[in-house]
Amino acid sequence: MTSTPPPHPAIAIAAPEPAGPTDLPEALGRWFEETARPLPWRSPDRTPWGVLVSEVMSQQTPVARVAPIWLDWMDRWPTPTDFAQAPTAEVLRAWGSLGYPRRALRLQECARAIVELHDGEVPASTAELLALPGIGTYTAAAVQAFAFGHRSVVVDTNIRRVLARVVGGEALPPTSLTAAEMSRAAAFVPAGDAPAALWAASSMELGAVVCTARAPRCDDCPVASLCAWRAAGYPADAHAARRRTQAWAGTDRQVRGKVMGALRAAHSPVPAAVIDAVWPDATQLERCLTGLVADGLIARTGQHYHLPVDLA
Ligand code: SF4
Repeated sequence: MTSTPPPHPAIAIAAPEPAGPTDLPEALGRWFEETARPLPWRSPDRTPWGVLVSEVMSQQTPVARVAPIWLDWMDRWPTPTDFAQAPTAEVLRAWGSLGYPRRALRLQECARAIVELHDGEVPASTAELLALPGIGTYTAAAVQAFAFGHRSVVVDTNIRRVLARVVGGEALPPTSLTAAEMSRAAAFVPAGDAPAALWAASSMELGAVVCTARAPRCDDCPVASLCAWRAAGYPADAHAARRRTQAWAGTDRQVRGKVMGALRAAHSPVPAAVIDAVWPDATQLERCLTGLVADGLIARTGQHYHLPVDLA
């Protein structure tokens, strides 16, 4: 934990322009308007549903993998009403290799709730968004900002990292979101809907494409002159001891992904003996199969596994 407040950028850096917290949103906003990636869910004809889908898909998944699946998804199911009626097996196949496929099932529950409670229109209020299945604080705030252009406090891993570096002078934020981080993030949201939405988009974009976790491109950074971490000489990660990076190989996630991949690729139920061959550790495989069935992502009928039949 850092006990000493970092030096204010205006004091620590001889900046070529007035430096201070209020300069950050403006500087990032200008940069974003000139350089923002043309992501499909940012197009002028985007819909609140399209934004909501993009936010759910983008959680823990790189944008490059999300974009083609999102385009296909919106082509098939352009509205919550279309998606609410989709067969579950088709939904899981369309989710493809995005990972964490429970998100797809929750998204369909969300679509059905939107149809039942809001006549098929994504609601704009915080309370109504948070009441939807699978919509947490981050997604609700992101939908408000990016779909409706409303002021909200959007805090994702990219924004946390940008604020930790520029304002906090730290290499990386703590391992989990703290109340202090939320307060700091809230304090940075400009007044007014449009500036606040622009701040959310631009600070997130900086973290995604310039101020990345492992290789920040400070020479290309539009707010380098305001950055406390840079000014302090890039001190080491104070939270490194608490950070655990879990290898992918050998995890239950990998095993579950292999099972889901085999069933997505099949157009008829797959014999259990075939599934048994996807992973050498029978105990781990059994645990994963049990978990997938319990999660509603696969089903077993006799000696065969298959994607779930639609229950709608
Ligand atoms: S100067 Fe470097 S570390 Fe600081 S915000 Fe820019 S990219 Fe990130």
